[in-house]
Amino acid sequence: MSIEQDPFREATGMYVLGALGAEERRAFEAHLPECEACATEVRSLRAVTGALPYAVPYADPPPALRGRVLAAAVQARRPSPIVGCEPQRKPASAAAAAGVAPRSAPWAWGAAAASVLVAVGLAAYAGNLRAQLRDSQIRLVNAVSRLEESEQRLQVASRETTSVRASLALLTAADVVELRLRGQAPAPTASARAFLSRSRGVLFAATSLPAIPNDRTYQLWFLTPGAPVSAGLVRPDAEGSATAAFAPAGGVARPTGLALSLEPEGGVGAPTGAIYLVSQ
Ligand SMILES: [Zn+2]
Repeated sequence: MSIEQDPFREATGMYVLGALGAEERRAFEAHLPECEACATEVRSLRAVTGALPYAVPYADPPPALRGRVLAAAVQARRPSPIVGCEPQRKPASAAAAAGVAPRSAPWAWGAAAASVLVAVGLAAYAGNLRAQLRDSQIRLVNAVSRLEESEQRLQVASRETTSVRASLALLTAADVVELRLRGQAPAPTASARAFLSRSRGVLFAATSLPAIPNDRTYQLWFLTPGAPVSAGLVRPDAEGSATAAFAPAGGVARPTGLALSLEPEGGVGAPTGAIYLVSQ
């Protein structure tokens, strides 16, 4: 049988690669049981392609690539003087009698090799795309993580800068006065220093404050000619040291001093507990 009689012979490589259209594939599969030569080539191609790195998941190559591959395959076949398949036991003289050269083994294996190269190329292309995608994803995650870290550091630095700036403004305020606070009966060894400005607030630093229960808090008060006004809560560290900055007392024209008392957690509106520190 000549190639004119059996056009399927050319389709074996594309069939094994799954590159035939649905109609072509159906026609080819209908032809296979009737043509031992095509069946043999399909089996041999499958044996080769089965060894390819097909363990990777399938990914669609771009449509343009398929077009280029098909065009290249058609181009490569054109110059070859080819003979169609024939039943294996059919004498070669029949082909010769049909006026065409006998099918050449080198061409057959050339076609198979081309098909394998296409398969290898597609598999490598897909594998490479996946590797690039994974790499890009990893780099993106790393970049986002670094960005978040930088933002957190920036926020901390910004808060610290604001705090330092406020402290500097307070310490250099025209009306700042330095106060010394002395420990009272519950904490005779405790002491504190404070910088008090009516316009800027108060900067407070205490040492040797006794540890207190979890349901209690230290609370700092502006002393005034009238009732004390809360400055804020003070939380000492494990060594009993505490530093804190508080805004100016709203509505207090002239604080006369500071005092620290022990109060229920969360603080209170007016002092109720024992006084631990009082300014001299
Ligand atoms: Zn055939």
